[in-house]
Amino acid sequence: MSKKISLTTKILIAMSLGLILGSLINIFAPDQAIIQNYFVHGLFHVIGSAFINALKMLVVPLVTFSLICGVCGIGDISALGRIGLKSMLLYILTTGIAITLALAVAITVAPGKDFTQQQQTTEFVAKASPPITDVFINIIPGNPVEAFAQGNMLQIIFFVILFAIAMLMTGDIGRQLADTAEKLNEVMMQVVTLVMDFAPIGVFCLMTKTFSEQGFALIVPMIGYFSVVILCLLLHALGTFPLFLSFFAKLNPLIFFRKMRPAHIFAFSTASSNATIPVTLQALEKRIGVNNTTAAFTVPLGATINMDGTAIMQGVATVFIANVYQIDLGLTQYITIIGMSILASIGTAGVPGVGLIMLAMVFNQVGLPVEGIGLILGVDRLLDMLRTVVNITGDATVTCIVARGENTLDDAIFNDPEAGMIAELHLPHRAR
Ligand code: ASP
Repeated sequence: MSKKISLTTKILIAMSLGLILGSLINIFAPDQAIIQNYFVHGLFHVIGSAFINALKMLVVPLVTFSLICGVCGIGDISALGRIGLKSMLLYILTTGIAITLALAVAITVAPGKDFTQQQQTTEFVAKASPPITDVFINIIPGNPVEAFAQGNMLQIIFFVILFAIAMLMTGDIGRQLADTAEKLNEVMMQVVTLVMDFAPIGVFCLMTKTFSEQGFALIVPMIGYFSVVILCLLLHALGTFPLFLSFFAKLNPLIFFRKMRPAHIFAFSTASSNATIPVTLQALEKRIGVNNTTAAFTVPLGATINMDGTAIMQGVATVFIANVYQIDLGLTQYITIIGMSILASIGTAGVPGVGLIMLAMVFNQVGLPVEGIGLILGVDRLLDMLRTVVNITGDATVTCIVARGENTLDDAIFNDPEAGMIAELHLPHRAR
């Protein structure tokens, strides 16, 4: 048992060590060719990126098998529609609360009012963002193989649900396929466990690389913006979510947060909700006790369309840039910002840095200078890591609420501190 506890603890220790080592490199060896070339851009970069790839590798097969099992497990199309509708509404509601909270705090604190632009800004060239209408058209994949190859989550979800519904409609043939999907899903969950065993080293390398490049010096001139974003992230994570969890999911938020810890560490070190899907799914199903029939659908959907942390960053960034450029925003513009942030988070995937592209969409809409984003670019990576933690916590909170409503939450698992602990790697011995 002590061995089981040790993997999560090991990952946590690895994360802290990486953070410390990275910061030390940033302070003492920013120009040391050997350290930079062989370690930061060599060893740490290779192992860290390989680990992210290993996580991403799990996402598409895991979502596919697990969603097939989920839909076939629900077995009834109207229940599926109900889960879909509830989770969509809750995702929109929580994102709406997040952005409103961010705007309210940012307007009150007014970061950027006395900001002088003497510090160098990084040039920001906005990538073209798709028109909102395309977002809806593109939910339907013109070519499912392409959707799978590109890992386009909304398209995959759409196709797999349709396929699984067809499985339900084809009686015996469908049932046999569902049995196979169930077995494949079980095996995929085991692959997740295998990959997780390499997490301490992967997380260590990722953290060391990121912090050796980021350093904290960049934050100083941006301290106003930075701390308002963090304050809002904390208010939402430790205020809104626990309230929702206690009132709507009837769960103890402390236990919830403890059980989500591995997923939080992964979200923080990868800055990607998508890459964290396997860990979020595992935490929700095995540790928190949400049935696969709910989590298989709500988690990949949430990773794509629900980004509360990102919405918070957008709210604060909008007010900050408006203050810096001394542009007055009116009520209509604030309402537009709320609507745009919700739409933008629906239309973009949960991958690192996507929040800035979404921010460009919001700026265009309310007439703020897009190049202003260059100001906040320097501190974005660190905020990206933090807001990704909030993003996946939002997905997990909504999943628990939907699961409670659907009666698919097992309180015995939730209340068992040992349930679903990430196990150490036990490779089977070959049968004699
Ligand atoms: N990295 C975030 C996520 O994956 C998205 C963003 O805010 O850039 O959830």
